[in-house]
Amino acid sequence: MTLAGKTAIITGSNSGIGLGVARELAKAGANVILNSFTDNDEDHALAASIGEEFGVEARYIKADMSKGEECRALIEQAGGCDILVNNAGIQHVSPIDEFPVEKWDAIIAINMNSTFHTTAAALPGMRERGWGRIVNIASAHGLTASPFKAAYVAAKHGVVGMTKTVALETAQEPITCNAICPGYVLTPLVEAQIPDTMKEYNMSRDEVVKNVMLTRQPSKEFATVEQLGGTAVFLCSDAAAQITGTTISVDGGWTAL
Ligand code: NAD
Repeated sequence: MTLAGKTAIITGSNSGIGLGVARELAKAGANVILNSFTDNDEDHALAASIGEEFGVEARYIKADMSKGEECRALIEQAGGCDILVNNAGIQHVSPIDEFPVEKWDAIIAINMNSTFHTTAAALPGMRERGWGRIVNIASAHGLTASPFKAAYVAAKHGVVGMTKTVALETAQEPITCNAICPGYVLTPLVEAQIPDTMKEYNMSRDEVVKNVMLTRQPSKEFATVEQLGGTAVFLCSDAAAQITGTTISVDGGWTAL
């Protein structure tokens, strides 16, 4: 399976799932563009190290996915792309009547609106190149809900809906658009919500991991960033050319419950 000569942009990829997806795409031969809202030496060094490890071109472009114009500028600065992975995302856990408005706005902007802006900016280039893959990292929370995650669940359901619409708009072109719906993956995003969940449920860390997070995941195991990356590589393969407008769950059986 080679993606040699393809260029992939992965939003929110200096950590967690985005970084895992970028590494697997690079391993499959794609040139990769990493992104986040920071512009540190480490961000650029991370891209350089991936380039060196896998023998591909790799660079880092700073763009804040909470801002529509920066989402579009990312695609422009990259010179377009063949593969777009919409991955940037944040989380906040709170009952809806106490949900901070600025957190609601940020989650909707970063987790959902950015996908609209990057997709709109990337599609014309994919059409010119005659090939495209859009992979949206949604969530099990794009298919089902949990308490205290109103903004996240709303945003991820929105991404799943947008995925179907983009797939229909590109159905007769060599472009596909799909969503990957991970269950729990132990990344900094998940680590960060453990303290708030401990408070909400009055539980210890171990109890939150076992009884709240993995209680919904029948496999009782976290999914890994490598597994998410492998799924993205599959969606970019020829075997997946007729897979469009759908969701692939990587959730240890969560949504089968
Ligand atoms: P993470 O916190 O490790 O990574 C999030 C990435 O997004 C980071 O690179 C961060 O820098 C970037 N980011 C945050 N705000 C940004 C902004 N304004 N502009 C640009 N980049 C920004 O989290 P993760 O767990 O790797 O999550 C990645 C995606 O996977 C998210 O969309 C998340 O909702 C989704 N997801 C995660 C899990 C899980 O269990 N970890 C489960 C389902 C879905």
